[in-house]
Amino acid sequence: MKSMKLLAVLPGNCIQSLSKNFSTGPASLQRNFKVLVVGAGAGGCSVANKFAHHVGGEKVGIIEPNDEHYYQPMWTLVGGGVKKLQDSVQKMSKLLPEKGTWMKTKAVAFDPEKCTVTTAEGEEVKYEYLIVATGLQLNYNKIKGLPEAFDTDPTVCSNYNYNYVQKTWPAIQNFKGGNAIFTFPNTPIKCAGAPQKIMYLAEDWWRKNGMRDNANIIFNSSLGVIFGVKKYANSLNKVIESRGMKVNYKRNLIEVRPETREAIFQNLDSPTGETETFKYEFLHVTPPMSTPDVVRDSPLVDANGYVDVDKNTLQHKKYSNIFGIGDCTNAPTSKTAAAAAAQCGILETNLRAVMADKPMTAQYDGYTSCPLITARGKCILAEFDFDGNPLETFPINQGKERMTMYHMKKDVMPHIYWHMMLNGHWNGPGVYRKLMHFGMDGPEKQAASA
Ligand SMILES: Cc1cc2nc3c(=O)[nH]c(=O)nc-3n(C[C@H](O)[C@H](O)[C@H](O)COP(=O)(O)OP(=O)(O)OC[C@H]3O[C@@H](n4cnc5c(N)ncnc54)[C@H](O)[C@@H]3O)c2cc1C
Repeated sequence: MKSMKLLAVLPGNCIQSLSKNFSTGPASLQRNFKVLVVGAGAGGCSVANKFAHHVGGEKVGIIEPNDEHYYQPMWTLVGGGVKKLQDSVQKMSKLLPEKGTWMKTKAVAFDPEKCTVTTAEGEEVKYEYLIVATGLQLNYNKIKGLPEAFDTDPTVCSNYNYNYVQKTWPAIQNFKGGNAIFTFPNTPIKCAGAPQKIMYLAEDWWRKNGMRDNANIIFNSSLGVIFGVKKYANSLNKVIESRGMKVNYKRNLIEVRPETREAIFQNLDSPTGETETFKYEFLHVTPPMSTPDVVRDSPLVDANGYVDVDKNTLQHKKYSNIFGIGDCTNAPTSKTAAAAAAQCGILETNLRAVMADKPMTAQYDGYTSCPLITARGKCILAEFDFDGNPLETFPINQGKERMTMYHMKKDVMPHIYWHMMLNGHWNGPGVYRKLMHFGMDGPEKQAASA
């Protein structure tokens, strides 16, 4: 592996003040951490535990407002009536490093020059090294009428939010026929497969329960393709065609009128911004997303508002003592927990190298994965890199719908997440992939690099 050059040295005041002020005591003494992690979701919780192991828990601070940690990938199965919502939740306090300092509050400002993060209470927390792991913000309010529709219309639901995912399964069960619409917004989102996975689960249930003939199933997507990787897109297009679902590309949801059950879509191909109105009897909305406002308004981001990291090392392009992980960065890969897992090991190796004043050696290849559930008992397990080359773990064609991959998603992955990833012991399936492919990356990746 190619070794990476170190960027600029740490801002001097960060190290100086650490040795003078290190304290996890009361706020008045100014808290000061060797490693400060902002956001304790999939990526943040995992790296906090890793670094508690490396530098000592008492030197790790975590800023995270939520009492509960959600395993969001399970919400597809919650919405589809396969899993219970409570299976996707655990107490944050049980997951964070034992001796670490958890500040149960929000970060409201970043000052990378002073090496401080300000909390909602106005406390300035100092750090030597910062890991930004805030994930994405859901911008439901960017769609006119949608917040009211969630409150008043039982047929409007969304698997992307803890409260609204609870509406999905009842709405599927109560659907009697008409237009069932599933949307995909015109921003980058987490798990780009989730907007269509719930469509397949709903279609499967309606078909098995005698409702399918009355259902007009429509996927209105802002994108121009069903999935970004051709191999899996080909498989998904066959599923859609064989089961009679309709896809309209370049359609972006801009308004919901719950009183008349109408959804208004902008035609993104129309130079005049033409709109189309669809009546709905069921509406599953995937909201537009961005990094949280505090990140977007900080000096840490690129022009699009994502934490500006080197895509291979995950180190910030300007501030060498800052790293980013997960959905909030501009690493150009599909935003998933699987990607965050693969990034954990890279970040761990590279940040430790920076701490030891050595060159960074680990390089992220963009590994990400999307278990595309196409029915109860069927799943296409997409795994690929930055360039869309399949990086499949198993020595079988994962582009086919398989029962085994469904059980991987439903039964095995939650176990890996709760018991291996979050405590810092899972860096993705790279090692297993190499074992199963006799030390190689799999035939498709090899063909692409030949
Ligand atoms: C319906 C659905 C299905 C999905 N399916 C899959 C799947 O099948 N496979 C897969 O790999 N991934 C899937 N994902 C995506 C996956 O959940 C995310 O990509 C993953 O959680 C990203 O991890 P993260 O650490 O970047 O962000 P998150 O896990 O979202 O964590 C971000 C954390 O930052 C905290 N935070 C936010 N703002 C602040 C602030 N100002 N101060 C302090 N803390 C803050 C939040 O409270 C949160 O705890 C799915 C997601 C959804 C919603």
